[in-house]
Amino acid sequence: MSQAWIIVTEEKQTPALVAMAKGLGGKVIAAVIGPRALAEAAAAAGPDAVKWVETEQGRPAEAYAGPVARLIAADAPGAVVASASAAGRVLAGATAVKLGAAMIPRGLKLSAAGETTLLERADLDGRVIETIASAGPVVTFYAGGDVERTPCSPAPIETVAADGVADIRLEKTEPAAGADAGITKASVVVSVGRGLKKKDDLTLIQGLATALGAEIGCSMPVADDLGWVEKERYVGRSGQHITPRLYIAVGIQGAPQHLEGIRGTKVVVGINNDPDAPIFKAADFGIVGDLYEVVPALRAALGK
Ligand SMILES: Cc1cc2nc3c(=O)[nH]c(=O)nc-3n(C[C@H](O)[C@H](O)[C@H](O)COP(=O)(O)OP(=O)(O)OC[C@H]3O[C@@H](n4cnc5c(N)ncnc54)[C@H](O)[C@@H]3O)c2cc1C
Repeated sequence: MSQAWIIVTEEKQTPALVAMAKGLGGKVIAAVIGPRALAEAAAAAGPDAVKWVETEQGRPAEAYAGPVARLIAADAPGAVVASASAAGRVLAGATAVKLGAAMIPRGLKLSAAGETTLLERADLDGRVIETIASAGPVVTFYAGGDVERTPCSPAPIETVAADGVADIRLEKTEPAAGADAGITKASVVVSVGRGLKKKDDLTLIQGLATALGAEIGCSMPVADDLGWVEKERYVGRSGQHITPRLYIAVGIQGAPQHLEGIRGTKVVVGINNDPDAPIFKAADFGIVGDLYEVVPALRAALGK
C-alpha cells in the first residue's frame, strides 16, 4: 500500500486534500510550504506526518518548487494531491516532473485496485467525471468541495531545510484592474450566464443592473471561457462568494459550483427558459421565459 502526499500552500481545503489522499489506503504525508501556523493547521487536519518547509517573508511559495519536488520524489509516493491555488499547481507540476509521474488536473477521488491507482477527475466544466487508471504514480490538484474537519490529534511536524530555493521576491501588491468590482459588497447583483447569446447583449443585463442599482456578476464560463465579464465578477466555488440581499440569475443553469457562491443570499431570483433548470430549486422566485423578453419586461416594469 503506497503512501500519498499532499501539498499545502493555504489552509483552505486541507481536510479535503487529506481525505482524498487517504483514498489510496496508505499513510498521508503533508508537505506544508508556508508559516508555522499553516503547518500547525495542516497537522490538525488528519495527515500522519507533516514536513514543514518554512517560507521566508516576501518569498512566494512557488520559489520552493525545486526543494519540495525533491523532498516528495525521494519518498516515491503513489500519489500527490495539491491544493488548486496557483502555488499548489506549480508545486504539483514540479513534483510530477521530478517523480516522473503523470500530472492529471482536477482530481476528485483516489483509490487503489491492486497495483493500479485510480483517480477520478472532473472534466468538461464538471459535466463529466473520468476515472484514470495508472500503473505508476499520479499527481493532481484538487477540484472537489470542502470537507468537514474531523477532530484528531495533531500529526508530528518535522522542519525540512530547503536548498535551491529560487531567488524570487514579492516586490509589491496592488489591486488588479476590475478588483474594485464591489460585487462582494453589493446588496443587489444581476448575474448573467451562458444563456446570453453574444457579448453585445450584455447591454441588456447592464441596463437591468443600472435600473436596480446593482453590480454585474456572472457564471464562471462567461468570465473564464468567453471573457465577456471580468474574472473578478464570477460567482461560485472558485469565484466570488457573495451574500447580497437580492441575486438575479439570468440565463444561469444553477450548477452546484455556482450556487456555492451565493449561499446566505437573502432572495434569489432565477430567469431561465428551461423550467427544469436547477436554478429554480435554489431560487425564491423563478421566471420561466426567454431572458430576451423577460429582462426588457422587468426594466419596463421598473419604469426604466
Ligand atoms: C471544479 C469546478 C469548479 C467550478 N466553479 C464554478 C464557479 O465558481 N462558478 C460557476 O458559475 N461555475 C463553476 N463551475 C462550472 C459549473 O459546473 C457550470 O458549468 C457553470 O456554472 C455553468 O454556467 P452557466 O449556467 O452560465 O451555463 P450553462 O450550463 O450553459 O447554462 C445556461 C443556462 O441558460 C439557459 N438559457 C439559455 N438560453 C436562454 C434564454 N434565451 N433565456 C433564458 N435562459 C436561457 C439554459 O436553459 C441554461 O440553464 C465549476 C466547475 C467545476 C468542475
